[in-house]
Amino acid sequence: MKKTVLITGASSGFGQATAKLFAARGWNVIATMRTPRDIPGTFVTRLDVEKPETIRAAIDAGLQRFGRIDAVVNNAGYGLFGVFELTPDEKVREQFEVNVFGVMNVVRAVLPHFRENKGGCIVNVSSGAGVFGLPMISLYNASKFALEGFSESLSYELGALGIRVKIVEPGGVTSTKFGERSAKEANLPPNGIRDYDTFVSAANQVFDAMRASRSAARDSTSEHVAEVIFEATNDPSDRLRYVATSDILPLVEARRRTSESEYMAFMRSSFGPKLPPVG
Ligand code: NAP
Repeated sequence: MKKTVLITGASSGFGQATAKLFAARGWNVIATMRTPRDIPGTFVTRLDVEKPETIRAAIDAGLQRFGRIDAVVNNAGYGLFGVFELTPDEKVREQFEVNVFGVMNVVRAVLPHFRENKGGCIVNVSSGAGVFGLPMISLYNASKFALEGFSESLSYELGALGIRVKIVEPGGVTSTKFGERSAKEANLPPNGIRDYDTFVSAANQVFDAMRASRSAARDSTSEHVAEVIFEATNDPSDRLRYVATSDILPLVEARRRTSESEYMAFMRSSFGPKLPPVG
């Protein structure tokens, strides 16, 4: 019997590539988005992760169409970049509404169906920013760290019910609309507080170097990330995390394989300036 996946944020980027890939591999696809646009070979329906009634309606429509849901890919999300002090509270809350509470809303809505089926798979699209902190993305970092903690804990709770939880961690992929929305949301100097200027321009040089190494990484594409999401969804093992692109491997490995003090020394040498001596 054909399996069915529901994907959030399928209007562009990873979500759209994932919808196309699952359809090409013979799955029924419920491709959800805030403003529905046709994706050939999929069933498109409206879903805004901030509006639980649209989530319920999308799940019901999908069930009516296909009879069951085997997997959910929580992909909808965006990056709020900029210096924390310069970011208004409503933007901070909006970042969590989409990247964290939005995922929880979808998980809460699908779980009764998964419990009834005694199975299912939840794939949460995190980021390298869910593994290591970088300056000027503290809010995006906070949202993806929260998503990772939520997913890890949930994997134990749901594992006992035969429901798998997976975390996919992509690095930078420029072909999606991610950069466009981040640029719109960003709160960068110059904007009244000059104290951050020196740090921001030094950090930007490091980011430029990271971007250059990323464009050299051939696997930094939406199609590749979609492949990793497909692999994670179909992996029957209890493996939790899947790093999706090679550009972030050095930082992921530094975070996971070196001691805390070595790791922090390495990051501070990249993102100085040094802390003033205490006392
Ligand atoms: P994208 O092209 O901007 O896609 C993001 C999707 O999320 C869009 O479909 C967008 O829909 C949707 N979305 C945003 N707010 C939503 C809401 N309230 N309800 C429902 N859908 C909403 O960016 P992408 O790069 O494919 O990003 C997908 C995921 O990958 C995100 O979780 C992002 O954090 C993560 N990620 C991206 C990168 C990267 O470098 N591209 C790296 C690591 C992780 P609209 O069209 O309606 O706005």
